[in-house]
Amino acid sequence: MAMKAKEQINFLMKKHYENAIIAKNNGEKVGWVTSNFPQEIVQTMDLCVIYPENHSATAAVKGEDTACCKKAEACGFSNDICSYAKVNIGYSFDNEMISEKIPEPDYLLCCSNICHQLMKWYKYLEQKFNIPLILIDVPYNTEYETDDVRLAYIKEQFYEAIRELENITGHKFSEQKFKDIMSISNQAGRLWNRISDLLIEDSTALRGTDLFNYMGLVVCQRGKKETIEALQLLYDELKEKNNKYKNKKKIDWKYRVLYEGICCWPYLAKLSVSFAGYGINMVGAIYTNAYGIEYSTFDEMLKAYTYVPNAVSLERARDMRIGEIRKKKCDGMLVHMSRSCKIWSGIMYEMIRQIEDKEQIPIITFDGDQADKQCFSEAQYDTRLQGFYELMESK
Ligand code: SF4
Repeated sequence: MAMKAKEQINFLMKKHYENAIIAKNNGEKVGWVTSNFPQEIVQTMDLCVIYPENHSATAAVKGEDTACCKKAEACGFSNDICSYAKVNIGYSFDNEMISEKIPEPDYLLCCSNICHQLMKWYKYLEQKFNIPLILIDVPYNTEYETDDVRLAYIKEQFYEAIRELENITGHKFSEQKFKDIMSISNQAGRLWNRISDLLIEDSTALRGTDLFNYMGLVVCQRGKKETIEALQLLYDELKEKNNKYKNKKKIDWKYRVLYEGICCWPYLAKLSVSFAGYGINMVGAIYTNAYGIEYSTFDEMLKAYTYVPNAVSLERARDMRIGEIRKKKCDGMLVHMSRSCKIWSGIMYEMIRQIEDKEQIPIITFDGDQADKQCFSEAQYDTRLQGFYELMESK
């Protein structure tokens, strides 16, 4: 029997982790890479890589985060650093703490377009494993656009990174293959955006929080043909359901909201259930949108990677949210203030002020963390969600 999209996605993710262990056992070099390092380069060179952020998130969903965070803290790391890093660092001391195993890295690829804390995290890994670290510096952009000077600076670093990767792994970079991979990645990015756009329909059958469950595939395997097949299947299944629900008016979401911030992975199930309890659908999320990357040329690709959420100016970041609020007809915005993701949450106070000013929708925050369940209070969250609901009611 043919697999459903969800099964296919789970299968591909399982294979992703299994293949890394097999590759390592076969003597192949395995890299650890940050989630917004252009995967097109990795795929073109046929490198075997693991994304520690995804691995930490997966551990957090399973409730394995706290033990790792505590281990990292006991080994001298501040309680205040990114919990994705803490989970990964804890695992680097004791790999029994996470059920999904990953092989030790032979090299590291770090692109600072996500945040600068990553650089310290990867510096630690470089020392711990005594392996090469390839670092791409994408400076935080206070301007709205990425200009040619900035682009040239980044481009030169990627050329150098490719040369270094060829030396480390022995795998070669081919222009033709790169073009093919860019085409596949674009198709995957476009499909991911089309899936997200199914949430525009009023009676959509898709629960937006499910996108968090599927996003691992576009984080880790955007440049693979199997990914396109799985995403196409997901789109077709959801579209068919949407059409059915539309005709029967089966689902009528009371409120449509933008979820702001990183997913609160340890409590994803709770978030999803509590939204549904209030008839709320998360119809937009900047976090999931970050992987719907579309472009036409090499330069455009590099530019696209400078426009990922944390690399852009406040004004651009604000307009990304406003664009999503308008496109998805959001009634409110629920903001996850992640305690350990300072770059994302720190900017939020001013962002909220400006969005409230322009959009006149209720905006409420709750405290949590992407991968440390100690930072979440269920009672606080429940009260905030109730308040959020009442504010939308009063509108
Ligand atoms: S952006 Fe936030 S969650 Fe991601 S690595 Fe940086 S601090 Fe951690």
